[in-house]
Amino acid sequence: MNNRNETYDVAVVGGGPGGYSAAIRAAQAGKKVILFEQEKLGGVCLNVGCIPTKYLLEKAALVDRIARDTQNNIFREAGLFSWKKIQSGKDTAVKKLVSGVEGIVAGHKIKIVKGHAKVNRAGTVEGPNGEEFLADSIILATGSRPVMPPIPGADNPNVLDSSGALMQGNIPRSLVIIGGGVIGLEFASIYGAMGSEVTVLEMLPALLPNEDSDLSLALRQAMEKRGIHIHIGVRVEEITPDGDGCTVRYGTNDKQKTITADKILAAVGRKPNLEGIDVSALGLKLDGKGYIAANKRQETSVPGIYAAGDVTGGWQLAHAAYAEADTAVANCTGGSVETSYETIPRCIYSLPQLASVGAAEQQLKEKNIGYKKGVVPYMSNGKAIVSEEPEGFVKILCAEKTGEVLGVHMMGSHATELLSPALVAMNMHATVETLAGMIFPHPTLSELFKEAAMACMDRALHSKPSR
Ligand SMILES: Cc1cc2nc3c(=O)[nH]c(=O)nc-3n(C[C@H](O)[C@H](O)[C@H](O)COP(=O)(O)OP(=O)(O)OC[C@H]3O[C@@H](n4cnc5c(N)ncnc54)[C@H](O)[C@@H]3O)c2cc1C
Repeated sequence: MNNRNETYDVAVVGGGPGGYSAAIRAAQAGKKVILFEQEKLGGVCLNVGCIPTKYLLEKAALVDRIARDTQNNIFREAGLFSWKKIQSGKDTAVKKLVSGVEGIVAGHKIKIVKGHAKVNRAGTVEGPNGEEFLADSIILATGSRPVMPPIPGADNPNVLDSSGALMQGNIPRSLVIIGGGVIGLEFASIYGAMGSEVTVLEMLPALLPNEDSDLSLALRQAMEKRGIHIHIGVRVEEITPDGDGCTVRYGTNDKQKTITADKILAAVGRKPNLEGIDVSALGLKLDGKGYIAANKRQETSVPGIYAAGDVTGGWQLAHAAYAEADTAVANCTGGSVETSYETIPRCIYSLPQLASVGAAEQQLKEKNIGYKKGVVPYMSNGKAIVSEEPEGFVKILCAEKTGEVLGVHMMGSHATELLSPALVAMNMHATVETLAGMIFPHPTLSELFKEAAMACMDRALHSKPSR
């Protein structure tokens, strides 16, 4: 079918955070916009990523808290919570948010085409029925999906990816997680709190090697304290069927071990969705890992084609996709903008939570940057004590000479919410002196941030000197 009359200023392929936000931004800029989505608006984030995991993690945190308060497992063992109800609550939250996005997109008079779109040449997108839509600019935001590791036996039906792990009808008695990255650790927290015997197998010598090493070590210890088994520096060699579950063989070259579990979660990485994009016909350059190469202006190698979100590799976070979409739209509507990742927030909604922005201490050392640090424990904070959440710490790293905040790293209750003042501070190039001079509300966890700023200057009020 040929539909050449339909011309648009901007065509967006993919309706996840990168795509739907690009479509809305372009419509807000007064452009005529068309958006193609083959599954559901909201993409991975709303449907099988950020939102459903965070729903389950909220419930996991409640169960974890009650188990800690009562100092026993009665709550978990007696099955006093309904996994079925939790799962349906999760589905309701997802539906609510997806329909919210659908309403907003429709409200901006964006044309939505449901189905698989193809891009074979600049300026044209082919719809699911072969119809052609012309557009001055195309934004590719087709996202990514999980990869299954090339391990013999990984095709066993008990080996799940992250989407499968979200949809379990029952809590597995035992779960082995291959990969100790963000997704693996979040699922370890969910199922660990719900009563599964969880084992995490990580090939690298540390969890989260790019995070501040104090933070990754503290998280490992805190998760182990909650009964999660974590083995680092081990490679999974083989998965074999074993009764209703699987046996996993793992280890080092010298020492091999086996572990049997009901379910295995493979959380080893993702790959770009490029099925609809004819890379060679377009002459579209890919990076070394097969993702679409885009510069800081989100331009691809093909004039008029931009890319945003997971399909470009990069951070693979929803807020990175939003930022890149903003950049792409600004540049295809006459602006000149670059995406900056200097203060990109990094949050892990594990139990306990981790949140960070800016440089890790080991990175400052590697670069020979002079710094001071202030570390304060949650235990020193009145709100943490009254809410009986004393686990964790806040660490600020600041420039030795100027006091400008260079990095903030936190572990503990509500750390992902607490990160926002740190983001504001870093974006405004604030110094620890400025932060220490501000009045924070008492009693709040946010006082930990001011206290850590004061600790950088050896002036902490409620905690011992950190050096
Ligand atoms: C378990 C899990 C938890 C996560 N938690 C967080 C979190 O807490 N915070 C965070 O920031 N990030 C999180 N993420 C990452 C986040 O979900 C992604 O970074 C984000 O969804 C990327 O958005 P995107 O728009 O680039 O791609 P996607 O969300 O993948 O959306 C791409 C969309 O494009 C559609 N599409 C693809 N090809 C075509 C085509 N040819 N035609 C039409 N449509 C097409 C797909 O159907 C999909 O809907 C999580 C991810 C996972 C898997």
